[in-house]
Amino acid sequence: MRFLITGGAGFIGSAVIRHIIQNTEHEVLNVDKLTYAGNLESLSSISNYSRYQFSQTDICNRAALDQLFTDFQPDAVMHLAAESHVDRSISGPYAFIETNIIGTYQMLEASRAYWLGLNEKKKATFRFHHISTDEVYGDLEGTTDLFTEKTPYSPSSPYSASKASSDHLVRAWNRTYGLPILVTNCSNNYGPYHFPEKLIPLMILNALQGKALPVYGNGQQIRDWLFVEDHARALYTVVTQGQVGETYNIGGHNEKANIDVVLTICSLLEELAPNKPQGIERYRDLITYVKDRPGHDVRYAIDASKIERELGWTPKESFETGLRKTVEWYLNNNEWVEHVQSGEYQSWLNKQYQG
Ligand code: NAD
Repeated sequence: MRFLITGGAGFIGSAVIRHIIQNTEHEVLNVDKLTYAGNLESLSSISNYSRYQFSQTDICNRAALDQLFTDFQPDAVMHLAAESHVDRSISGPYAFIETNIIGTYQMLEASRAYWLGLNEKKKATFRFHHISTDEVYGDLEGTTDLFTEKTPYSPSSPYSASKASSDHLVRAWNRTYGLPILVTNCSNNYGPYHFPEKLIPLMILNALQGKALPVYGNGQQIRDWLFVEDHARALYTVVTQGQVGETYNIGGHNEKANIDVVLTICSLLEELAPNKPQGIERYRDLITYVKDRPGHDVRYAIDASKIERELGWTPKESFETGLRKTVEWYLNNNEWVEHVQSGEYQSWLNKQYQG
């Protein structure tokens, strides 16, 4: 198969591409604008394969997308490109409207034009897989409920509202035009190659540098964590075996309060990185409570029974094993971390792709 994957230089997209190139014979075209969150160094382990290609393209550029579809002739699209950081959506929502809503619209229209031109056999097997988040469902504060595929949408932040909007567009393109779509809504991911603006890598790297570990509000916000490689496997399962028009929720059965995540990271570091920065007795002493994020949802939790029952996917990592692997990865991959923190991958990129 030929997969056109958007956002493949990001955290989850790069895990999906590594998974497909390393475990199958399929071909991949990675379409990524390379915003601050896109990093081709996360793909260095597979970038020399002839089955992998990269195009630096903005998904809002319809003419460029049309050309890529014509040249690459994909069998399936996996659409991950997005602005993804809630805090950034609060300070600057426009990029989220542009990429997550307009960009998804352009991807749908480019896919539809291409799909209409396919022969009947290829038309029947083509798939447009939209990758979304559990944040579209809103807040489960004060309940023990889980999000199912039927939970009504109630997004709270500009990020989740823009993702909800894109999910609605994708389903409308199926109902109105018959485009063969799949939607997945996943809980919080963590793992290797995660940009250090997000909770888990931020805490690991700040602790190692003896910096404060900023925890929002009382730290009791609950998230359901999934190891990124389990998510990549789930996405591949859905795009190759999912029923057209269906939505699948993906989660790790790992509901944890933010403060407990931070405390677990601190104890793992005590064991794995006992030589602390000067003046630090215990990593946990670096925890600092900061003013809560406006509109902060208190609890998310996913019911992933549909994908488990219908497609046989289950996560391989528990939170304990996945978090240990993640901390070890950050300890062993200084170069990636330094390049990301110094913005050096941008110059690496310029060198790598001169002209
Ligand atoms: P990320 O921010 O790490 O990566 C996003 C990628 O998209 C980057 O490589 C960026 O360069 C690219 N991109 C942004 N705007 C673009 C544009 N206009 N054109 C082309 N490329 C563009 O995000 P992520 O964490 O890997 O998330 C990927 C997808 O999964 C997103 O759609 C997100 O909503 C969804 N998701 C994320 C999580 C999570 O915990 N991270 C959970 C559930 C769902």
